[in-house]
Amino acid sequence: MTASEKTYEMQWDCEYCGAKKLLGLSQRYCPTCGGPQNPAKRYFPAESDKVAVEDHPFVGADATCPACRHAMSRACNNCSNCGSPIDAGKQVAMHGGQQQGAGGQWQPAESTEARGGASASKRKIGLIVGLIVMALVVLVVARTALKKDAVLSVVRHSWMREITIERFDEVEEQGACRSVPAEGRILSRTTPEPKCTMTRVDKGDGTFKETKACTEPAELCTYRIDKWKAARTAKETGGLESAPTWPALNLRLGNCRGCERTAAKTESYTVGFDDAQGKPHDCEVTDVNRWKGFAKGAKFGGQIRVVGGDLDCDSLKAK
Ligand SMILES: [Zn+2]
Ligand SMILES: [Zn+2]
Repeated sequence: MTASEKTYEMQWDCEYCGAKKLLGLSQRYCPTCGGPQNPAKRYFPAESDKVAVEDHPFVGADATCPACRHAMSRACNNCSNCGSPIDAGKQVAMHGGQQQGAGGQWQPAESTEARGGASASKRKIGLIVGLIVMALVVLVVARTALKKDAVLSVVRHSWMREITIERFDEVEEQGACRSVPAEGRILSRTTPEPKCTMTRVDKGDGTFKETKACTEPAELCTYRIDKWKAARTAKETGGLESAPTWPALNLRLGNCRGCERTAAKTESYTVGFDDAQGKPHDCEVTDVNRWKGFAKGAKFGGQIRVVGGDLDCDSLKAK
């Protein structure tokens, strides 16, 4: 992140004679009619009208004279209009900051008002999220609590065993050049454009500060590298009649390009029930022997969830 900062004069329009684009810092009185500057009429100038302020000592936002309401620099001890001491003077109102949008136009940065609006819409979103969460909680509670008893008979058995197979091969990847592994073969390098944000902040003394902050993106590399990657799965399925087995593999082992190796293995055993109405329900069992123990045609008592209509597999009891 790099940042550069420059100070420019705010501009103001005279409310007495209508003179435009007067300078906030160096023209405290209207050069046309002599009318005092009203800090509330200050604004950020157009890009072409910007006047830079060099070595300007910032002494604080302007004070408003407690006696005659004229605004003046904090450097003054007494009001240049009526002579009253201005130590107790209140700070002039500050203008909301600006931020440059993607199209180059200036838009209000998060001002107090904007933040108020955002928090109102945030409150609305919060309310909607709250209602959704409440509805979900009600649903979960109903799903857990509302169940009806049912009689189920064992009608199906199935098992599945699956192996993920990885292949060692050349792949193309992209990433920050400094984190490319040593064995990576770099094909191309690109440096993305830096992203810059311009912001303007009213300093309240007739000047504003313009800040340009840029992020320096890391150089990106496209490279080729040999690595293990999930390529396919081998799967075997069956019922009670066939003993569960792992799929037969014919792998080309080793560390060559195109060589294969086994990775994750998963297995599942499912018992299928029909309820009194003939509606099917499945329960997964982790242990093979327990799975075999569910004899075909055996009757079980169990609970069906009212919400969802599915069987609570933990509720099964042999009849
Ligand atoms: Zn004027
Ligand atoms: Zn005064």
